[in-house]
Amino acid sequence: MIITIDGPVATGKSTVAKRLAESLGYIYFDTGAMYRAVAYQVLKEGVNTDDPAAVEAFLSHLDLDIKIKRGGKSYFVNGADVTEEIRGAAVTGAVSRVAAVPAIRERLVAIQRALAVGVNAVFEGRDMGTIVFPDADLKIFLEGRLEVRAQRRLDELKRIRPNEAENLTLEQCMKEIEERDNFDSHRSVSPLVKANDAFSVDTSDHTVDEVVFQIFECKDQVKSKHRAPPATS
Ligand code: C5P
Repeated sequence: MIITIDGPVATGKSTVAKRLAESLGYIYFDTGAMYRAVAYQVLKEGVNTDDPAAVEAFLSHLDLDIKIKRGGKSYFVNGADVTEEIRGAAVTGAVSRVAAVPAIRERLVAIQRALAVGVNAVFEGRDMGTIVFPDADLKIFLEGRLEVRAQRRLDELKRIRPNEAENLTLEQCMKEIEERDNFDSHRSVSPLVKANDAFSVDTSDHTVDEVVFQIFECKDQVKSKHRAPPATS
């Protein structure tokens, strides 16, 4: 079974997807981390993403690897562990531009579909329910009020990158989130948009457990829709 969770920045996608996957015994994939890993390498190599030949040359030697460890995952690009670096401000500032490049998306979509073969998994990102897994068994679209999402993002940054969060205000955070969502929603390839058959869940005023509970309810609805009618004799 494949469950997709899409939505804008800081709606709780990763936390909810992780908790949901744990409770179901499924594997969880954070596809934003994959785009971040590619963006890190684009920055490192100084690739001009407006030049298709440069992107093609870059992709021809790109090796992306995810190692599943107890308690989390590590992301490797061309052999180097970039798990920490991909959460930094430089990558966050560049990732949307990199993720809008069609050839880069094509490569990552192929990897994501290959990861889904023969497993039960929760995939979290922006285009999981629309482009990557249009036939997913259950599709969720998380939403949330901008101020709440910005506060969450700020709290998370304070926890994982206190130096970067030190001089960041809530207003700056709101602006950064709005800009990234706007860019992701208006790009020409695979824009961030809710799939027609996705369930919307607003996470603003709910705990992670409450959101996961709502997703279980959506799952039951999908199951009963697909259940065969009772046999008549
Ligand atoms: O989820 P996260 O904020 O880490 O994603 C970083 C960026 O990666 C997003 O802002 C978006 O530009 C890109 N992304 C994407 N498609 C996905 C997942 C992430 O374009 N499936």
